Amino acid sequence: MSGQADEHERTMAFCEIALGQIRALRQPATPRNYEIWYAYATGYHPALNQKINETLGANGTLSDADLDEIYSAYLSPTRLTDRIDKVGSQVMGEIEQVMAMIDAAAGSASNYTESLADMTEKLGDSKDREGLRAIVESLVQTAKEMEESNQKLEERLNASKQEINELQENLEVVRTESLTDPLTQLANRKFFDTTLAEAMADAREKNEPLSLMMTDIDHFKNFNDSFGHLTGDQVLRLVAMSVKQNVKGQDTAARYGGEEFAIVLPNTVLRSAITVADHIRRAVMTKELMKRSTGEHLGRVTISIGVATLHDGDSVQALIERADTCLYAAKRHGRNRVMCETDPEVSAPPATQVA
Ligand code: GH3
Ligand code: MG
Ligand code: MG
Repeated sequence: MSGQADEHERTMAFCEIALGQIRALRQPATPRNYEIWYAYATGYHPALNQKINETLGANGTLSDADLDEIYSAYLSPTRLTDRIDKVGSQVMGEIEQVMAMIDAAAGSASNYTESLADMTEKLGDSKDREGLRAIVESLVQTAKEMEESNQKLEERLNASKQEINELQENLEVVRTESLTDPLTQLANRKFFDTTLAEAMADAREKNEPLSLMMTDIDHFKNFNDSFGHLTGDQVLRLVAMSVKQNVKGQDTAARYGGEEFAIVLPNTVLRSAITVADHIRRAVMTKELMKRSTGEHLGRVTISIGVATLHDGDSVQALIERADTCLYAAKRHGRNRVMCETDPEVSAPPATQVA
């Protein structure tokens, strides 16, 4: 439902704020500065906004050095591909070091074996005490060297293990970020697509039910038009939170599109999914919205929800379309309601009012 024109309007609002800040602070309108102020306008990086507000509060402006620092602290390291490349090359570096250590250890072990064999031979030949003593001393010395090199190897391997663990954690953070919607912190569309396909395969394998919920905010365009897109974004966050708070651990709530959320409910029959949907709907409609910065009352928003359940032979697309059809029926029948695939109104047209 969110068209290109809406996206244009929304992004132009960010663009205007960004340019307004550059103009007001008389900064060079370079791509880097524009990116910083655009990010500021979206509010996707709360830490960046806080840092800018603090610096502005203290100095009244942002110097070039401040901008450099902000860019490298909050924007350039957040570029996922750069970070993945960096972690990747760190892993390669670590692996190379471990391989070199293993080569060195294998070398010293074979030297050790050789010198043992050599000494065993000498032992067999040796007749006098002095000769024996020299051989034993040499044996003790070799064993000691071997022990030292083993110890070094163990220490280095432990350090590598720790480093690889940290790199794995970094990779996990990057992976999670690449699957998260920055505005709402819910799963993004990419994550939703794979999760739904996997959940459907799983449900079929275990012969369990699976339900899908599609939600859309009612008359959200009017809300944006009245209060601005930035306030609209805050409401999106709030709706996302209501969704998150009303689903369980195994369910996946995702931002499906602009102001549409999708929830995958594994092992859930249609009836239970409707109950969950109604909890979410009520949670959203009972929230009294207020603009934090001004205390202005913004009224309330409502959402409509469509619920469908997995049938034999459903493709991913077919299940999504059925949930979507229910969502449109909920819209047609007055909004702020939950409709499911067994509701007679889903296929029937809305009642015509007779005067
Ligand atoms: P309906 O009840 O029929 O859903 O009416 P609607 O106005 O909500 O219509 P529709 O769902 O087609 O409109 C989507 C609107 O949602 C358009 C746009 O103003 C708003 N929107 C979409 N994505 C975003 C976003 O990321 N932020 C903000 N603030 N608004 C968004
Ligand atoms: Mg929509
Ligand atoms: Mg809508």
